[in-house]
Amino acid sequence: MSDCCSVPGLMPFEEALDKLLSGVSPVTETLSVPIQEALNYVIASDVISPIDVPGHDNSAMDGYAFAHQSLILNKTLTLVGKSMAGEPFTGQCREGECIRIMTGAKMPDDCDTVEMQENTQTLPSNNNSDNVQICFSQEKKRSAHVRKKGEDIKQGQTILKQGQRITAIDMGSLASLGIENVSVYRKLRVALIATGDELKLPGQNLRSGDIYETNSFVLSSLLAKLHVEVINFGIIKDDFNAIKEAFTLADMQADAVISSGGVSVGDADYTKGVLEELGEISFWQIAMKPGKPFAFGQLPHSVFFGLPGNPVSALVTFHQLVLIALAKMQNAKPLQRIKMPAKLLGNLKKSPGRMDFQRGFFTLNDKGEPCVQSTGSQGSGILSSLALANCFIILPAISGSVVAGEKVTIELFDHFLGGV
Ligand code: AMP
Ligand code: MG
Repeated sequence: MSDCCSVPGLMPFEEALDKLLSGVSPVTETLSVPIQEALNYVIASDVISPIDVPGHDNSAMDGYAFAHQSLILNKTLTLVGKSMAGEPFTGQCREGECIRIMTGAKMPDDCDTVEMQENTQTLPSNNNSDNVQICFSQEKKRSAHVRKKGEDIKQGQTILKQGQRITAIDMGSLASLGIENVSVYRKLRVALIATGDELKLPGQNLRSGDIYETNSFVLSSLLAKLHVEVINFGIIKDDFNAIKEAFTLADMQADAVISSGGVSVGDADYTKGVLEELGEISFWQIAMKPGKPFAFGQLPHSVFFGLPGNPVSALVTFHQLVLIALAKMQNAKPLQRIKMPAKLLGNLKKSPGRMDFQRGFFTLNDKGEPCVQSTGSQGSGILSSLALANCFIILPAISGSVVAGEKVTIELFDHFLGGV
């Protein structure tokens, strides 16, 4: 792909995404999971409702049920029974009679309308009858306050479609249908490898030049939200054999291997040599900022994603490219992200050539218009620019600097990044 704004040697962002998507395949293995464990799995076959919900006409109110006709004829009805949730009334309710009914209780067969308790008055029983009289103050439409059988879900209706990720709300729908097990795609196994001699774990002492390892903490947390099984290989030294051993093991255990660091052209970057020996990996320079160096390709048993080492670049390339490819591997519908125009507060520096994912803070001004401002220094090592942000300001490759008041495109952080 090449266009007016493509830079020689740099791969446009869209082309990189296309290449990733066409280079990964969805898993085919399915399993049946009990609904208690089904949250966040991807549905493997449509879920069809075995029943109507609700399963019977029932009352939406605490009050009195009667045949609509009765109330037209008479404003006072004789109370002849009660219908409670889980304990329906089984007798007859004739003309001129009503039934005490509670919310969720089954409508008696002869009744079609409910009046709420608040609009009634109970008249004490007199000597002629043991039955209490209920006095109604208002007309009622037929079927008032009645929830109809099947009005939520009909028997045979498709409730969840293949490719849908099961949400907390879906858990409620499944439970309301009494479904015990769901057919889902198996979890992806994703191996994470951080490379670098300078990387240390929290609790370890930093020698001169060392830094604390960040990427695997961010990436494993994002992967947990994607509901994959993470195999964390921790920190691997910049050593050909150590890297080769880790990548070989990771490839045998995982569907996808994700490493960070070692994809730029520094002297200590052994990953390139190892990967060229192990598989078919391409090293790209993507026209995006942050996140230029990136590697992608096939290992013998898995796909490989090589992220840049800088924490901001690693996170942005993972979020914008890898998550989308992993969702395809899970058979999930494409991730939904909300893009919209916003008025820029302050100026943004940019040179044409790469697509920028600047970190922004979105607000609504007092007129309710979406506005956005930069979260400050945008260096690819400055994680605080992301920590303070709630959206990306996406400036196309062709764009130069932008000034206050201009409209820019923002992409609100999704649930992976915390959301707005
Ligand atoms: P590299 O791509 O390995 O040259 O790394 C680029 C920059 O990212 C260097 O400053 C590294 O120290 C830093 N870096 C690499 N991996 C990590 C990591 N896992 N956590 C934090 N910083 C990293
Ligand atoms: Mg490195």
